[in-house]
Amino acid sequence: MSRKKISCYYLSNKSSQNERILHALELLELDGFASSFARLSEEVIASHKTPLDFLELLLEKEILLKEETRIERWLRQARFRRIKTLKDFDFSFQPSIDQTLIYSLAESEFVVKGKNVIFVGPQGVGKTHLSIALGLESINHGHDVRFIRLEDLIENVTKCENDGIRLQRLLASFLRPKLLILDEIDYYTMSDDAKEFLFKLIMHRHNNRTSLIFTSNQEFYEWAVLFGKKHRAAAAMDRIIGNAEIIQIEGESYRLKDKIKKLVN
Ligand code: ADP
Ligand code: MG
Repeated sequence: MSRKKISCYYLSNKSSQNERILHALELLELDGFASSFARLSEEVIASHKTPLDFLELLLEKEILLKEETRIERWLRQARFRRIKTLKDFDFSFQPSIDQTLIYSLAESEFVVKGKNVIFVGPQGVGKTHLSIALGLESINHGHDVRFIRLEDLIENVTKCENDGIRLQRLLASFLRPKLLILDEIDYYTMSDDAKEFLFKLIMHRHNNRTSLIFTSNQEFYEWAVLFGKKHRAAAAMDRIIGNAEIIQIEGESYRLKDKIKKLVN
């Protein structure tokens, strides 16, 4: 807050006290106070509450609003393709998943500790759904998240190819979030730049102790092709798996569940 702005408050020639207060709250960017002080002050007088009650109510409003704004901003930044929650997930349809484990991951301790989570299994069993749901929980627990499919990451890298500075900026943008979700680690044609990028991303995130969630329908040994040379693949896989919770899902595709029911009946 600059001195100039604050002095505007003293110089302002507002006619009523309410206007002066509102002006000051706007200068201080206390939007929760600003939107509720007039109504709350009337309520507090009517119910014979104390000035400290009034202050406490205003602080609550301000904190709630700031929290809502943070969550909205982080949801936009995360770029989830759709919103999927744990509440919407039918665990009875997928008994191979340990529900208790998923709910303990939702506490986001793995993000605090910089651990990884890997969902492996066939199409439609809920890997992306659960990864987004854990991402949402992380945001609620105060950790920022970025979601991207590997295919889109490769496309982003391709756009920056032969431009070292843009590639570095791109890498920095994927290193920043506390949790990065790399969706659909499946088969892709990758240039040497993309392989190099992915290798650096894994190694730096490991060194920074920041978490990754992977989803894939490929066996681990097939991932090696993503990192180029053999020794690099081994090093990257070691960092990914070494500190990961691996969740193997074996079951039917949820997308096909109604079709399966029809066949059975
Ligand atoms: P995967 O990533 O394993 O291919 P998705 O997570 O994309 O599968 O799931 C496909 C669709 O089915 C999504 O719309 C998802 O929300 C839904 N879905 C999958 N499994 C479940 C489940 N057990 N309960 C509720 N919805 C599910
Ligand atoms: Mg998926």
